[in-house]
Amino acid sequence: MSVSKQVEELILKCEVHREDRIEMLCDDHSQLCCTKCAFNNHSQCSKVTQISELTNSQPTGLEGLSVELETVLGEIKTLQISQKASIQSLQRTYKEHSAVMIEQMLGNLNTYIDECDNSSVGTSGGNEQYLKEEMCRSVLSIVNEFDNITAKELNEMKDEVISIKESVTSSIHKCTTLHNDLSQFHELVQKIGDNKELCLIASIKCKHIIQQALTLLGKSGKAFNVQRKSVHNVRIPSDSYECSIAGICVLTDGQVLVADLKNKRIKLLNQQYQVVNHWDVTAGPWDICLITSSEVAVAVNDHDSKIHEVQFITVNQGKLVSGRKFQLQHECTCITHHQGDLFVTSGQELYKYTLSGKLICSLYQDRSADWTVYKCAVTPTGDRLYITSYYPHNKLLTLARDGTLLATYTDPALYGPNGLHVTPAGQVLVCGELSDTVLQVGWEGKSKLANLATWGDGVRYPRSVCYCSTTSSIIVGQWGDNILVFRVE
Ligand SMILES: [Zn+2]
Ligand SMILES: [Zn+2]
Repeated sequence: MSVSKQVEELILKCEVHREDRIEMLCDDHSQLCCTKCAFNNHSQCSKVTQISELTNSQPTGLEGLSVELETVLGEIKTLQISQKASIQSLQRTYKEHSAVMIEQMLGNLNTYIDECDNSSVGTSGGNEQYLKEEMCRSVLSIVNEFDNITAKELNEMKDEVISIKESVTSSIHKCTTLHNDLSQFHELVQKIGDNKELCLIASIKCKHIIQQALTLLGKSGKAFNVQRKSVHNVRIPSDSYECSIAGICVLTDGQVLVADLKNKRIKLLNQQYQVVNHWDVTAGPWDICLITSSEVAVAVNDHDSKIHEVQFITVNQGKLVSGRKFQLQHECTCITHHQGDLFVTSGQELYKYTLSGKLICSLYQDRSADWTVYKCAVTPTGDRLYITSYYPHNKLLTLARDGTLLATYTDPALYGPNGLHVTPAGQVLVCGELSDTVLQVGWEGKSKLANLATWGDGVRYPRSVCYCSTTSSIIVGQWGDNILVFRVE
């Protein structure tokens, strides 16, 4: 078969029915169809046109698309590299942490043995026998403590590392597949010649694959459309106060965890948003984020009693089980996670930590008011971070991976910006606590894509927001006992 014949076959092939040729374009779905596709899925559509009828009217613009293909190809390549680096750094963190823990235990043993040596100087006889036994007991207790506490924590961390590694690996596979498809198209486009029908189909296919790549890169730019709303009460009988939902996260299976700051509780909601279990925190839980498919991290903070810690919690068969924790040297108002990196805000700074609680660096700070670095969120690719600067600045900031300020967004509809969230496709959602709004802002952090919900929709002092892919819903936590769930498209 000649090269041009091969190119033609590849371009004309229906992506669902590999034996059939593309014949039509459905305008309603902007989808290319073979006769089977058209019959099965588009018989009710209002505008399905034969390709042969379209070739005269539509410009193809393949050269521009070829440039776009090259750009996204480069970005996918960069993403793959950074994901591989994440896996390495995860493994390094775990190894370093376990080495430090073991060294600490050996240090304890040595200190103890030295103490014994010193105190045994000058003793003799029966006393010596007693000292030996005492020594054995103490050494055993140090080793046991290591087994019971530190080794348990190290095992928890090991499970986290394995689980995160799996999810990063699957993401790398997605990149590889898409990279291959993009390369293939990039090549095809060069060889396509000037057959109008082929050019048209190729350009539509190109646009689709570029859109897929942009979604994977977290640059989808697709605005949500709210379909309907539901209200769910998350107060339980033993709550002493009205709820205040400062943080929300959704597990892969659709279960929801909310951080009730006022009642100092983490609550687990089932898929119907009913509270099925709760776990009492030592101080107010200010925020919560997903670590693995069944584990979350909670930012626990109390200014007066100087409690600043990150507490891990596992969801096991409908129950919340507490795991390891680590202390912070500063207030913590927010926590978010990306492939083993933890981002924690203090109100005025944004810090980056490892999973083991080791401070890596401070990424951003602003000391001009109390809550200038209030809440933060990170993109699925980790290349950008968003920060809300609460009243009086009322800003949404966009930072590069290294903390460089890329964009500042202000809006009369965004007053007292509080909780924010980035969806897997990179859509940025942000709450205006004092404007009673939830907005969607473009991934560049420069423009508004939608006012998703306002006072008229029942929004009252919204503090937290989260998107759930399994149900295509946006969940909003606020001051008060009700959470709002918006079904979106
Ligand atoms: Zn088909
Ligand atoms: Zn259709």
